[in-house]
Amino acid sequence: MPRIRHAPARPTPRTLVITIDGPAGCGKSTVAKQLAHELGLMYLDTGATYRTLALAALQEDPPVVADARRLAGLARQLPIRLDKTAQGSLRVFLGDDDVSRKIRTEQVTEVAAQISQYPEVRGAMVERQRELANTHGVVVEGRDTGSVVFPHATHKFFLDADPAVRAKRRQEELAKHYGSRTPLALIREQIDLRDGLDRSRVVGPLVCPPGAVVIDTTRLTVTQVVDRMRHILRAPRRARP
Ligand code: C5P
Repeated sequence: MPRIRHAPARPTPRTLVITIDGPAGCGKSTVAKQLAHELGLMYLDTGATYRTLALAALQEDPPVVADARRLAGLARQLPIRLDKTAQGSLRVFLGDDDVSRKIRTEQVTEVAAQISQYPEVRGAMVERQRELANTHGVVVEGRDTGSVVFPHATHKFFLDADPAVRAKRRQEELAKHYGSRTPLALIREQIDLRDGLDRSRVVGPLVCPPGAVVIDTTRLTVTQVVDRMRHILRAPRRARP
């Protein structure tokens, strides 16, 4: 299948790579999207790339979810394309199919968490993510973006929040965008499970990368988090905490 490359982001005076890592529900997607929009940079959601691979794996006949070598092959060929809506939201294409909603189902969430554990899959996906971010500037978010994908990023952030708050946010987001009525207790269980997998895998685990600025978003609004990041980005490097 042909590879579709991402259209170049609006040029910026210098190349900026801003990484934002953190566990599920810490608010990184929302702030990354907003920051990218404000700074005129590309927004790369690496979680969406794992989700798209999971969807492609489920669409195989029969589905391929436990064969790491075949999954890595699928990842290398994955015809993924990312695009932005006028409002700054992310649109994800698998070939010509707009899969932005399809990659948010519970089944895809579960399979993405599973297949992202395989080192072969991560190796292939990291290459694809670097390819997708091949622009003048990018805000990239995920679990290993500051530690593995872009260890030499210009700026690194690590967001965290209380797990109960993260579960509540995820529930609200699912209800708002997808009309989901998943009970809070179940979402909390899924978050705890995904946290465990993300933090314990051997390759590309969720870690706070060296040099990252840590922001606890438990009691902060999105605007407050983005304000804090903007402030840090403007400060001279040596003055940063
Ligand atoms: O962030 P999101 O929930 O969309 O991520 C989907 C899945 O992809 C997660 O279960 C996470 O484990 C995995 N992932 C990853 N590395 C990243 C981003 C996401 O393993 N850099």
